[in-house]
Amino acid sequence: MSKKVKVLIIGSGPAGYTAAIYAARAGLKPVLYTGGQPGGQLTTTNDVENFPGYPDGINGPQMMIDLQKQAERFGTTINYGLITSVDFSGYPLKVTVDEKDEVIAESVIIATGAAAKYLGIPSETVFLNRGVSACAVCDGYFYRGKEVAVVGAGDSAAEESTYLSKLCSKVHLIVRRDEMRASKIMQQRVKNTPNIEIHWNSETEEVLGDDSGVTGVRVLNNKTGETKILSVQGFFLAIGHKPNTDVFKGYIDMDESGYIKVEPGTTKTNIEGVFAVGDAADKMYRQAITAAGTGCMGALDAEKFLAAKEAEMVHVNG
Ligand code: NDP
Repeated sequence: MSKKVKVLIIGSGPAGYTAAIYAARAGLKPVLYTGGQPGGQLTTTNDVENFPGYPDGINGPQMMIDLQKQAERFGTTINYGLITSVDFSGYPLKVTVDEKDEVIAESVIIATGAAAKYLGIPSETVFLNRGVSACAVCDGYFYRGKEVAVVGAGDSAAEESTYLSKLCSKVHLIVRRDEMRASKIMQQRVKNTPNIEIHWNSETEEVLGDDSGVTGVRVLNNKTGETKILSVQGFFLAIGHKPNTDVFKGYIDMDESGYIKVEPGTTKTNIEGVFAVGDAADKMYRQAITAAGTGCMGALDAEKFLAAKEAEMVHVNG
């Protein structure tokens, strides 16, 4: 089975749905495939309090339902399915869904997002959103005046620890080696903050908790073999993200971590008619509002591209 579409949107987070709202309102009848996690990363959050326009905050999953409804209201077709391969070697662009259905698209907006990396210990999953979070900017506010731990040693860990130190009574930074990977200036900022304590050569063995949520973290010193318990109510992962872009490898230019490269100030990729929006192309900001912003840009870029293509065809056909 093969289906032809003008605008194909891959992904259903704030970037994908915003692209869909704009493309649909431009009369382009977009078709959106949700991917394996309909609604994206916000469906794993509780309250979103930093998206402008919601003075009382909004529940993450509810926000995604609202965005979906808004996209559908203007004529977006939403399909549940995973893009399993693409062929961007020619034009129009070809995409395979669930290893069987082919979609032929005049333009593609990639909005596949990124996934936060987790340690992979079971207790981390048990307390997810009940003390365990992978986004300090999103959830730090809920731990005002409390003790928290951050695991990681890169720029994200440094930035998130510093951010949390302004809200929380104390931040324990758990670093697995005897040095940090973060830039010198960010490390210095961490070291100069009195309420951040760095635990070197330390690995998280277990997140501890009860019905109220997280109550502590057991860490192992991998040099001495000693274990200790840090009494914290929040446990933040800052060990990196992985963009969900593997399926585009070989066609789309990416950096060494797999983030899609776009022409600065636009959403254009190296392939004509393919645009990248949201976290799949953004390792710096990673916020719902920035994802929505680039989603809008992607739809406008696709609209402009299609109009130019149409004008070209009219010219060729006389
Ligand atoms: P990075 O990949 O740079 O760092 C990940 C960190 O997590 C490393 O220090 C790594 O430790 C640690 N880590 C990985 N796995 C584990 C594990 N299982 N247990 C414990 N620790 C672990 O990711 P970031 O998200 O920090 O940064 C990604 C990119 O974004 C970088 O290029 C960064 O510079 C950039 N960035 C820039 C910012 C800015 O300039 N304001 C802010 C945030 C990010 P180890 O060092 O031992 O490998």
